[in-house]
Amino acid sequence: MNSTTEKRIALISVHGDPAIEIGKEEAGGQNVYVRQVGEALGQLGWQVDMFTRKISAEQDTIVQHSKNCRTIRFKAGALEFVPRDNLFGYLPEFVENLLKFQKENGVTYPLFHTNYWLSSWVGMQLKKIQRSKQVHTYHSLGAVKYNTIDNIPLIATQRLAVEKEVLETADRIVATSPQEQEHMRSLVSTKGNIDIIPCGTDIRRFGSAEREAARTELGIKPEEKLVLYVGRFDPRKGIETVVRAVRESQFFESQNLKLIIGGGSTPGNSDGDERDRIEGIINELGLTEFVSLPGRLSQDVLPTYYAAADVCVVPSHYEPFGLVAIEAMASGTPVIASDVGGLQFTVVPEQTGLLAPPQDVPAFAEAIDRILSNSEWRDKLGVAGRKRVIEKFSWDGVAHQLAALYTQLLAQPIEQPIEQVVKEPALLS
Ligand code: UDP
Repeated sequence: MNSTTEKRIALISVHGDPAIEIGKEEAGGQNVYVRQVGEALGQLGWQVDMFTRKISAEQDTIVQHSKNCRTIRFKAGALEFVPRDNLFGYLPEFVENLLKFQKENGVTYPLFHTNYWLSSWVGMQLKKIQRSKQVHTYHSLGAVKYNTIDNIPLIATQRLAVEKEVLETADRIVATSPQEQEHMRSLVSTKGNIDIIPCGTDIRRFGSAEREAARTELGIKPEEKLVLYVGRFDPRKGIETVVRAVRESQFFESQNLKLIIGGGSTPGNSDGDERDRIEGIINELGLTEFVSLPGRLSQDVLPTYYAAADVCVVPSHYEPFGLVAIEAMASGTPVIASDVGGLQFTVVPEQTGLLAPPQDVPAFAEAIDRILSNSEWRDKLGVAGRKRVIEKFSWDGVAHQLAALYTQLLAQPIEQPIEQVVKEPALLS
């Protein structure tokens, strides 16, 4: 292996475009993860190409983020937004375009780091075709997700099969928390190699705003208590729980309570149904005066919101990792989160925030009241939260761990035989 191939890495994120605006429709943690990992690896001297699906003719095919890091978009199916549950049939075209791209550019990527089960299928084909290595991050596990929702999509069987196959065949699986690793072992397969490398956050960006200045900027009065939610409008995110908990809080009666729900796109988009439903609940509970829905918040303004908040609530029904929790903690704001998944790893109860059972409105209301009624303790939780993020969850630290893993895998000999055909998804055959 020569020195140029040694430090070349391809990240695949078919449905989570790392170059797109975060916070709307299906754009969330995965997009942030891929982009930040890519940029941080670029800083470490890796040549990073991030492959994703093009969703409109207006989008640039190549977006250069920094000297070593770029996003490359391929056509796979129509040039339009397609919900992730409907994307599987377009993956062979994605593989073909990737092979074509390599040929035209005279490169063969030695290692693909794939993200989400759709991309894992792409990575498995490339492993068979050209013996490339594969590292995979799930971001969400079907086996866990389908336990928390009522309407199981048609694609479920396919997804579960692909998720099992990649766990058993990838050179390494990256679990972002011990809880996720445990889910893989108990619900997916006992075979396969798993490392735990968490998600990260930008500790310079989050933590840059000062509390009083941030509150003034957002027009929050000194006596007001600010509860913040940040994230997509998706029923799994449990926004209803925080809305109802705010209504039950003892601070609601004093009329000094404010809830900001940041995230979501404009009406008419795919997340609009959940937004309408949440707005309906806000009206029904008589909360319109106390709740504001500013829509998508850019990563540039988010530090101000986190810094201004007394508490950030992450009420997800299920959360593989949950970037919002560590962004708030990095900003010195305590977190009240559901006692599930990666949130059990990031939030240390009584030290950096509190955990409550998912969908348990009284428990969330009680947790909110405990923190809002003791500002000294709130500050102490905030300081401990930032310390924890700096020690465990900075992107630089995460990128170093990933780089070490890639380097180790690239140094290992290749075992499996070459297979020259692109297999069609089983669904189509
Ligand atoms: N986000 C954002 N603007 C918004 C809402 C969310 O930039 O208005 C970002 C947020 O800062 C975080 C990501 O979207 O980085 C959400 O990641 P998380 O892991 O919390 O949830 P996911 O979307 O992956 O379910």
